[in-house]
Amino acid sequence: MMPFDIDAIRDDFPILKEEVRGKRLVYLDSAGSSQKPTQVIESLKRVYETEYSNVHRGLHYMSEQTSARYEEARSKVAKFLNAEFDQEIIFTKGTTESINLVASSFGRKNLGPDDEILITWAEHHSNIIPWQLLRDQIGCEIKVVPVDDDGAISLESFKKLISKKTKIVAFCHVSNVLGTVLPVKEVAEIAHQNGAVVVIDGAQGVVHMPVDVQDLGADFYAFGGHKVYGPSGIGVLYGKRDLLNQMPPYQGGGGMINTVSFSETTWADLPDKFEAGTPPIAQAIGLGEAIDYMENIGLSKIAKYELDLLNYATQRLSGIDGLNFIGTAPGKVSVLSFTMDCAHPHDIATIVDQDGVAVRAGHHCAQPLMERFDIPSAARASFGLYNTREDVDVLARSLEKVNEIFK
Ligand code: PMP
Repeated sequence: MMPFDIDAIRDDFPILKEEVRGKRLVYLDSAGSSQKPTQVIESLKRVYETEYSNVHRGLHYMSEQTSARYEEARSKVAKFLNAEFDQEIIFTKGTTESINLVASSFGRKNLGPDDEILITWAEHHSNIIPWQLLRDQIGCEIKVVPVDDDGAISLESFKKLISKKTKIVAFCHVSNVLGTVLPVKEVAEIAHQNGAVVVIDGAQGVVHMPVDVQDLGADFYAFGGHKVYGPSGIGVLYGKRDLLNQMPPYQGGGGMINTVSFSETTWADLPDKFEAGTPPIAQAIGLGEAIDYMENIGLSKIAKYELDLLNYATQRLSGIDGLNFIGTAPGKVSVLSFTMDCAHPHDIATIVDQDGVAVRAGHHCAQPLMERFDIPSAARASFGLYNTREDVDVLARSLEKVNEIFK
């Protein structure tokens, strides 16, 4: 195996050579959206320059080429997640659309007023609101698993709330605010014993660790291209074939039908049934390239490198006066959310930006979680495979400046 060569990896990301306000860009917002390697950028260019047409529509050469590349990308995703069948991979426009698809299609078909959906306090709005929309339509109940003070979400808490009434257990693989890794496999076992299906929001999971949907017991697993060093505008919904086969289409239009007449329309087989209209073609191919990129480096190697960096950053930032971490659960990954006694998170982000440091500040699309920790917002530094200890040092020095300015 090749060593983890951070200098070579950084060279793969052209944007890291950019200057921000005359300073080196220190990009610590990969949980928001990651940067893209040349391999991905070039693949987009190549598609439009040499291989582009609509997919599955034409009998001409270009359409055949593009369709083949598009389906190759699907196979790469299937292998990446260890799905049993390529057809279990539905291309969407992001994690958000993937979860909405499950809520609209599976939810409306299978849930009634007496049923319950279980989510956690740590969910991103995209794993809360689709279930609320469903609840408002069918009158079911949403129950919420609590988060401990350190950001952990225990199996015991899930056990207390899962019952025979539970039809869907939907939760994040990794919290985008706390970095907590949830016990997916164990929860899935209990959910299945109670007859519920398991929907995993993998937006922050799949980029930081190898994921095997079959081993995890996920019935549905959602993620987006833009967090895994791929393009935006493309997402994935993995769903077990039997479940997807029983589900009605989510949207209607071209490409998802078998026959159409004014009296009756029949659906295409998987995965087309769920891909109405022209899909994000180049983006899907770019996502395939991003997966190749990560796999060439090695998912486990990336995870190990990032963990070392997170530990360094945790230690470095704990030395800063008045800085409070949000989320310190054992085994956490990739993100450091914090507040500072002396300054609002928006001020923190604005001041460190002057040093070229990009961190996120706000509610992180997790307002219930902010309420849980009794804060209006938080600053968040999040790490990707291209970040270094030097990046952390620049952030730490800049945060010390925040203290000097506000004290
Ligand atoms: N879930 C989590 C945990 C996230 O971090 C995000 C992105 N911030 C989303 C869902 C939404 O993902 P997308 O942008 O792919 O719709």
